Amino acid sequence: MSDRPPKSGGPKGEPPPPPRKDRRPTPSGGVRSARTPSGGVRAFTPSGGVPSARPSSPSYPPPPSSGDASLEARIVKGIAGSPGVAVGIALVIGEMRAAYTRRHIHTASIDAELARVRQAVDSAKASLREVSQRLPTDQAKNQAPILDAYLLMLDDPLLHDRINRKIRSEKKCAEWGVAAASEDILRLFEGGKGEKDAYIQERKHDVEFVCDRLLRALMGEPGHVIPRLDQPMIVVARDLSPADTAGMVREPALGFVTEVGTRTSHTSIMARALEIPAVVGVADALNLVRTGDTIIVDGLRGEITVHPEERQVADALARSARHLAFARGLLSARNQPCVAASGEAVTLKANVELPAEAILALDHGAQGIGLYRTEFLYIDRSTLPTEDEQYELYRAVVEAVAPQPVTLRTFDIGGDKFASTFALPDEMNPALGLRAVRLALSRPDVFLTQLRAMVRASAHGEVRIMVPMVASVHEMREVRKLLVRATAEVKERGLTHAPRIALGMMIEVPAAAIMADVFAREAEFFSIGTNDLIQYALAIDRTSRTLANLASPFDPSILRLIYNVARVANERRVPVALCGAMASDVLAAPLLLGLGLRELSMEAAAIPEIKEAIRRVDLTECKNAAEQALVCDSAENVESLVARVFAPRFFDLLAGSADEPTTRE
Ligand code: PEP
Ligand code: MG
Repeated sequence: MSDRPPKSGGPKGEPPPPPRKDRRPTPSGGVRSARTPSGGVRAFTPSGGVPSARPSSPSYPPPPSSGDASLEARIVKGIAGSPGVAVGIALVIGEMRAAYTRRHIHTASIDAELARVRQAVDSAKASLREVSQRLPTDQAKNQAPILDAYLLMLDDPLLHDRINRKIRSEKKCAEWGVAAASEDILRLFEGGKGEKDAYIQERKHDVEFVCDRLLRALMGEPGHVIPRLDQPMIVVARDLSPADTAGMVREPALGFVTEVGTRTSHTSIMARALEIPAVVGVADALNLVRTGDTIIVDGLRGEITVHPEERQVADALARSARHLAFARGLLSARNQPCVAASGEAVTLKANVELPAEAILALDHGAQGIGLYRTEFLYIDRSTLPTEDEQYELYRAVVEAVAPQPVTLRTFDIGGDKFASTFALPDEMNPALGLRAVRLALSRPDVFLTQLRAMVRASAHGEVRIMVPMVASVHEMREVRKLLVRATAEVKERGLTHAPRIALGMMIEVPAAAIMADVFAREAEFFSIGTNDLIQYALAIDRTSRTLANLASPFDPSILRLIYNVARVANERRVPVALCGAMASDVLAAPLLLGLGLRELSMEAAAIPEIKEAIRRVDLTECKNAAEQALVCDSAENVESLVARVFAPRFFDLLAGSADEPTTRE
């Protein structure tokens, strides 16, 4: 596997931060360099289904100069998040909500944690004063009062009172205390009549900004300046929120580099969906890269090059061109049937998060949407989406894809998918907490609204509803009752809907995989979510960069769970698919066929190469490989097995180019 922990290092020292989050400039203007082989596709805007055009011919920015000769070229390893190679100017985004580790402290450490907060206040003030001094005179006039207000807020007794309480009484570490106190204060703004008022919104931003400064000071992170650059850039960030990546549908980036993340984390999933090369898990990227630097993002090798030399730029552009040509070749076969060399048909569907991706999915030859992640609708906003708003979005996707089916997944919020609208409780282990169906059942009002919108969308094409993170039959039964109620409510209003809507479930908790025979009586279809199944079965946080190399989909325990689900489902004639990132791994796909699966769902961009891989294999050899894999004792041995059996004929698919040696072991 190419996912390895990265090496790190690099020069420190950053320009000062922008004074306000809400004034953060965004990348603007300029067409995106057309790395996507699917040129000329139509796209919906997330808000309303209006088609727009994408550039169809490659238009790289002029090869950036390799810059100051005194800056040494430096290659840093990360994790290949999304294939492709991009060369461009970096835009370092330091305004992300800084991540912190939630730690409970001992009573003996309370004073030390409080002292850390005091120190952080001093250092945040010092950095704000520094910003103030460095502002050009024309800006200083406007910005100085804002900075002064922030300085006052850093001493606000209400804030400090709450932070003290969090640390003293609730024994939270300093970072957690600061974050929890600011969440408390933000909650005071909610629910009132003026919640949407611009003034209230500004005050909320102010609280968030001050909290952000304190967290950065506590964690020793410098701030970053975000200049406005009028050309597509390579976005470098600690992490990217779903709203940030969604914004890139309209203002595309050339590439992404993030410090956190793995192949199954949100940024990678979105980058692959948007066909933007990405390298994630680049430790220290924010210290290593500065806005304006030339960098190469190599999403095939999983590495970035900062301050590349001329020959490295030329090589990267050539690799990019070869990758594009290869990807276009694969795409041109999109209408070929997906059948193994031995003749068995396999269904390939697409995973989507944004309505815009539905058309992209069809353009890549998807036979329907196997997973529509609806949490995007709830994230990064202050109010819940209405039934009508949801209905319009679901309908746009269902109509775009009809007569192919669309699997709408009910919201999977919680864990690493945070939505402020729900005011989720602080939990030590959010991935094991109030997430997905558990949260839905605890908020039947919100859940029913979503179910009604889905039921209404069923009037426009084949809709299936899928429940995430099911661990007990009780949950499926409760969801079914609510679906019956939602359907009755839609009917009562005289609105149309399909006579029958299949209700299925994700198999992503080991309990559900083991009890597949029992769940076969409750669910009308299964979809195996390996991203979470691996996390829960191997007890490895799916967002952990440092543990990413241990979270292998080839672990025999994972293969046995998948095999059990596929076997039971096939025996009981329950349709079964797999929609985790494993489905888009060329070496895993033949193994999945061998384990008994005939339907895979993945980001649209991966469909052409997985189809090509399937067309090159014989089912008997897939079954033989699966049989051997099931009795292997380690992921490494399974990886060697599949590399031995399948890699020689997939060298081009693995390298992402027809004429390069594979970089995968
Ligand atoms: C999964 O867990 O494999 C999955 C497809 O769901 P998500 O990545 O949205 O958690
Ligand atoms: Mg999941």
